Amino acid sequence: MKSILISILLTGFFAIAQNNSADIQIKVKRATTQMVYVCDSKGSVAYHNSKNCRGLQACKHEIKTISEAEATQLGRRRCQICY
Ligand SMILES: [Zn+2]
Repeated sequence: MKSILISILLTGFFAIAQNNSADIQIKVKRATTQMVYVCDSKGSVAYHNSKNCRGLQACKHEIKTISEAEATQLGRRRCQICY
């Protein structure tokens, strides 16, 4: 699992490095596989770009690192503070 993630990240990196206009769409697609932070609480509705986001400071539960796609599947939306 971890090696798959690393290869996805590396592929994304090279797509960005080539930086042709056609690669911009690839870059946007890769962005959905980025890791985000969620507070593992029932009342929590957002996912975060940064672990240090002040929206996470109030979290009394475990802070989990999951992919953005997983967060979306859990019904989370982007935090308005760190996005
Ligand atoms: Zn946030």
